[in-house]
Amino acid sequence: MNNVLKQSIGLLFGLGLVWTTSALADHHWDTVEYQTVQVKDNLYAMIAEGGNLVVFVGEEGTFLIDDQFAPLTEKLITEIKKMGGDIPRFLINTHWHYDHTGGNEKLGKAGTLIVAHDNVRKRLSVDNTLTVFNAQIPASPKEALPVITFSTDTSFHLNGETIHARHVHNAHTDGDSVVHFKKANVIHAGDVWFNGFYPFIDVEHGGSLAGMIEAASTIINMSNDNTVIIPGHGFVGDKAALVVYRNMLSDVLTRLRKLKAEGKTTDEAVAAKPTQALDAIWGNGFLEPDQWVSIIYGGLETPKK
Ligand SMILES: [Zn+2]
Repeated sequence: MNNVLKQSIGLLFGLGLVWTTSALADHHWDTVEYQTVQVKDNLYAMIAEGGNLVVFVGEEGTFLIDDQFAPLTEKLITEIKKMGGDIPRFLINTHWHYDHTGGNEKLGKAGTLIVAHDNVRKRLSVDNTLTVFNAQIPASPKEALPVITFSTDTSFHLNGETIHARHVHNAHTDGDSVVHFKKANVIHAGDVWFNGFYPFIDVEHGGSLAGMIEAASTIINMSNDNTVIIPGHGFVGDKAALVVYRNMLSDVLTRLRKLKAEGKTTDEAVAAKPTQALDAIWGNGFLEPDQWVSIIYGGLETPKK
């Protein structure tokens, strides 16, 4: 199986399109392989099932961003040890989705300190439903919950690096963070960025298209031409690619706002094919254009505070 195909399947799985008990049981976790990209000294992006990971290793400890699915945790630790790291000292969750937090329980029990935005802990503490994927997500056990939470931002000072985690509001969810390795000039965008295709936006849990655009602009403003930007899904990219994606989202927002202003229902908006001119480039990911429009039409604007 080629890597692109393998990754698409990972994305399907990661987003819950096949998230059922039987799919979990049938899934061949043993065959999952990590594609590891060394983005800077001691700093790695890892792509496999679910959201993309970042691993930062050094004498003062291992720092991990997101942890995919529970059945992969041992494999993940094995990979981290190959990089010279160990059980992470710190883990940050970019948001609550289960393809980014599945390893929390095992890592929490192993002594990893889990850190995230306030709303990640809130969401993980209760049962959730992702209606669009027909997914029921039970509340997480105590060990899986972030023990340190923040409302706007926080910094880590580790291995000679300053790692700044910053909340971007009402973007992919209501608890997203982007994480900036300042010295290395590397950013993990979380699920604010799906590199190369229409992004899932969890409007049921505070996400919005306008918020995604604003968050993408925030990351663009933090970047220069040499910044390595790691998306939540898709391949490692840069500022120029993120600008193209942000502009596509702005274009879609303009089209959908017009349909809203005309009083169109979701079905009517979908039928109007507002993304048709963009679909050849962006509609080949895991969300069909019609499905994408129907998901995001109900959550165009950031909620009023
Ligand atoms: Zn997500």
